[in-house]
This record gives sequence, structure tokens and C-alpha cells, in this order.
Amino acid sequence: MTLSGSAQGVDEKAGGADAPQALTDGFHLLIDALKLNDVKTIYGVPGIPITDFGRMAQGAGIRVLSFRHEQNAGNAAAIAGYLTKKPGICLTVSAPGFLNGLTALAHATTNCWPMILISGSSEREIVDLMQGDYEEMDQLAIAKPLCKAAYRILHAQDIGIGVARAIRAAVSGRPGGVYLDIPGNLLGQVMDEVEGAKSLVKVIDPAPAQIPAPSAVERALEVIKGAKKPLIILGKGASYAQCDDVVREFVEKSGIPYLPMSMAKGLLPDTHEQSAGPARSLVLKESDVVVMVGARLNWLLSHGKGKSWGEPHSTKFVQIDIEPKEMDSNVEIAAPLVGDIGSCLSALVGGMGDDWKAPPKEWTDAVKAKKDANVARMASKLQNNNVPMDYNGALGALKNIIKERPDAILVNEGANTLDFARSIIDMYQPRKRLDVGTWGVMGVGMGSAIAAAVETGKPVLAVEGDSAFGFSGMEVETICRYKLPVCIVVFNNNGIYRGTDVNQSGGSDVATTVFVENSRYDLMMEAFGGVGVHVTNPDELTRAVNAAMDSGKPTLINAAIDPAAGKESGNIGSLNPVSVVGKK
Ligand code: ADP
Ligand code: MG
Repeated sequence: MTLSGSAQGVDEKAGGADAPQALTDGFHLLIDALKLNDVKTIYGVPGIPITDFGRMAQGAGIRVLSFRHEQNAGNAAAIAGYLTKKPGICLTVSAPGFLNGLTALAHATTNCWPMILISGSSEREIVDLMQGDYEEMDQLAIAKPLCKAAYRILHAQDIGIGVARAIRAAVSGRPGGVYLDIPGNLLGQVMDEVEGAKSLVKVIDPAPAQIPAPSAVERALEVIKGAKKPLIILGKGASYAQCDDVVREFVEKSGIPYLPMSMAKGLLPDTHEQSAGPARSLVLKESDVVVMVGARLNWLLSHGKGKSWGEPHSTKFVQIDIEPKEMDSNVEIAAPLVGDIGSCLSALVGGMGDDWKAPPKEWTDAVKAKKDANVARMASKLQNNNVPMDYNGALGALKNIIKERPDAILVNEGANTLDFARSIIDMYQPRKRLDVGTWGVMGVGMGSAIAAAVETGKPVLAVEGDSAFGFSGMEVETICRYKLPVCIVVFNNNGIYRGTDVNQSGGSDVATTVFVENSRYDLMMEAFGGVGVHVTNPDELTRAVNAAMDSGKPTLINAAIDPAAGKESGNIGSLNPVSVVGKK
């Protein structure tokens, strides 16, 4: 490009006395640096000082999707990172916009997903002297403790290296969130166009394979061989790794029952012979050796100890993880296997040889018996056509829909809506279940749904509690604006957990967990030109979802659920503190 006006002809040496020097600027360099590294999509909210940047990025062929709130754009970028193994990019304005995006960046980091939050910021000179600039905030300092890495670029000639550093930090080793601070005046800085092009960096091998040590592989195989009741736990690190074939090979060759963590459901179909999903309590309690594959022994697995692990009986752990510090985080790891999941599992499969012995039949039979009994017990409950709907009836209908449409992406958040859907709806393909992740955070639904549709082109079914939906509900406008094939089902039970709570003071306000009775969330979708449907029984629900998935039109189905169905905090009510002095 050649800039006109005051930027032109700054240095007359290059092209002779009267040839204008070709210049570039921060706007173009940042766009070129992102494009050079295959960034195809930016999720964000425009405003000072990045409005023109977004506009120009769109003009340069990057898909720039504008949201109604930065947190939702950030959640979209986080899920884009999970689905693609490339950093999802979120673009925000300074201070408040930055802070809104930061929650999602912390969420991405907690979940080990690569994401880059790019925020405009105000004048460094004024911020550092705290002289009260427009949206003044030391964003870099604030971001640092909440993400994997944080960088600021001050000079146009450093944009190439700054972007490269951000990308490598996000995707290498344990993936995570990276903050990139872009002071507004950086975008306007000019430099020689040829020098500028030379300053850009294409990141080579951003997430290098990490091969486990042969001695660690042998140790792991020894521990597994010694097991009488082995179990494999597949986590979302394993689905993130996109080495689906070797995961299947390891599971099938070993013959060991496996338990998928929530977002690892579908890595192997939930209907797989060796799935121990419906026998979860039994396998956690009884297993003597557990092979953790891209899963952490955090709260979601009771930290690897206590009642659910059948204490005092002690479990031996083999753990595969790319992050060495994860080992022994909660309990002793007998055989740590540090490396990327593809390399580690290939090494294990290689080391198993042709004479590998399947686990004792008594164990696999016991798991199967428990599983079959639990599946049979649930089956009849899921077929009810009750009015008002309960969770079983409504989710039984959605279970059948995913069975018939296994390539659809299921987004899921809420309390009871989350817990019941996770156990009831079988998944058949990898990375098709997107939910609240490691934090169990509410509000990720619409960002996830939008990114899932954009990144994969597949239809999305978002199953949302009414409370969870409220956190990001305004993004139905975004879904309509971009005409995305998203079908949202709001499980409307008039409140948080249930809609039946009463105000303990007897006052006129409703209880703290109660919403407006019989709200018509479907009309929100109609307001923006999408399809809204109100349903009251599982048959209507089935028909409405099928119509939405067939048409690909943005649809919101308001599914009236019995306000008395569901329990406080779903499956994790035990995490609530209880007053010892007693309630009124
Ligand atoms: P879940 O919630 O499903 O148990 P977690 O998020 O707790 O999953 O664990 C995922 C783990 O996977 C993290 O410890 C992370 O370091 C690890 N991980 C992510 N990507 C890879 C990879 N490519 N290879 C090995 N480990 C990985
Ligand atoms: Mg509710």
C-alpha cells in the first residue's frame, strides 16, 4: 500500500527524490500477521480504539463476527480454540470491554484451550502516570495472573514477533489463554512497507510433538499389566488432541473399560462395548489402576480420593498429560507419562505387543452387568410423554434426536439441564459435546453455539437451562444476524434449580431463585426474525427440534418444564455450605 497525506514521503531516500515511499501501518501489520498465521475468524465487539481495525480485518478477508457482549465473544473464541487446536481470537475495546473478555480468557486458560484476547488500550504515557485517560486501565498487569501469558506491543516493527509469541504461547505445551495488549496509537504507527513485511513471522510447528521417555512408557505398561480392575478415564485433553484413531486403538487393544469425562463423550461412541459411563460410581470405587488420558484429578473426580474412590482401598494412577506439573497435583501418580496424548498412546500401543492380555473377565463382566442394569432402568423413564414435562421425558426426546443426527453439535449448560443431559444424551462423535467445562461456568452457551456453527459448519443444538440462557441470551440477535444453524432449547422451569421457592420473609418479592412465571423466551428469537416455538410435551419438542434442524433456521424452543422438577444445584448440591444456626 501507499499511504497518502502526512504519512507519505517521510523518507525520500528509498524511491528517489520524487517517488513516494511505500508505507504500512499498525493496522495493516496486525492484520497481515494474523493472516500469515492462518487466522480466519475474529470474535469481538467493536468500539474505541479497535473499530477501524475490525472493519479493515473484515475488508482483508478475515471473518469478523460482532457480538453484543465481549464475554460471549470470548467464550466463542475459547471454544473455537478447543475445536480447532488453533488460538481462537477475541477482539475488544479497552478497560470495560477488556474486563468483559477477560473472564472468557481465564475460562479458556482453566480449560487448557488456546485463545488470544486482543484488546485495544489507551495511551501508555497517560495510563502509567494515572492521569485519567478515556477508559484508563493497566490492562497488561491485570491480565497477567489470569492467563498463560500476556504481552504488549509498543512498536509497529514488533507486531510480527508479538503475534508469533502470542500464538506459540497459546498452543504449545498445555494450551491456554494469552492476552495481547494493543495501545490504540500502535495501530496508527507507520513504517516502511518492505521492512514491515519482513518483520512478520509465520510460526513454524507451533505445538511441537512431545515424545514421552521410553522408561516412562515401560513403567506405565508395568503398572497397567499388574491391574486386576483397570479403568481408563478419557478427558477433554484427549478430545482436544485430535488423535481419535490412536485413542480408539489404545482402548480397544487394551480391552479396559473406559469412562469419558463430560466433553470427552463421543471420542468413542457412548454405545461402545467398553464404555463404563453408566457404571461410573462402580468403576471409580472398585478400580485398582486408573489410566488418566488428558483428564485432571480435580473436583470433577473428587481429587482422586475419598468416598467415591472407595477409600480406604487405594488406586494406582497412570497419568498422561503434556503438563509435567499436573503430576501428583492431588494424589501420588505411580506412572507419570509426560507428553502429547497422540505420542504417549502410540508408544503404549506399540509397547503392548501382540500378546497383550485383556483385563480379568470377572471385572469386565461386573462393569457390563452394572451398566446394562442402569441403562435398562433409565430406558422406560425416558419414554414418558408427561405434561408438564420432566427432565427425563424432554431429554429422552433429545437423546433420540442426537442419535439420528450424530454429527450435530450439542451445547449444554444449566444445573439440572446440564447434569441430566450429560448422562442421558449419548454422543457418537468426537468434540460434539460442548459444555460448562472445568469451572462449571454459566453463560458459555451462546458463545459456544455461535463458534461451533461458524468453525464446523454443522448444525448446533443448544440445550439450556432458563437461568443459564439468560447470561448470554441477547446473542440470539447475533445468531439471527449471521443466519447460523442454531436451535436453542430453553428448559423453562421458571427459575434457578426450580421455580417453586418461596421468600422466607413472606414479603412481596419472589424468592431469590425464582423468575417470571411462564416466560416466553421463544418470542426473543422472533423479535430478530428467527423461529420461536413454545412446546409443552416431548412429542411437540421432537417435532420442533427436527423442523429446526432440517431448516437450519435460527430457532428458539421454549420447553415448559415442571417448575417442581429438578433439585438444588443439580448433582453438586453438596458443594453448598449449610448454615449451622439454621434457617428461618
Ligand atoms: P476433563 O475436565 O475432561 O477431565 P481437564 O481439562 O481436566 O479434562 O484435563 C485436560 C488435560 O489435558 C490437562 O491437564 C491438559 O494439560 C491436558 N492436555 C491438553 N492437551 C493435551 C495434549 N495435546 N496432550 C497431552 N495432554 C494434553
Ligand atoms: Mg431453571
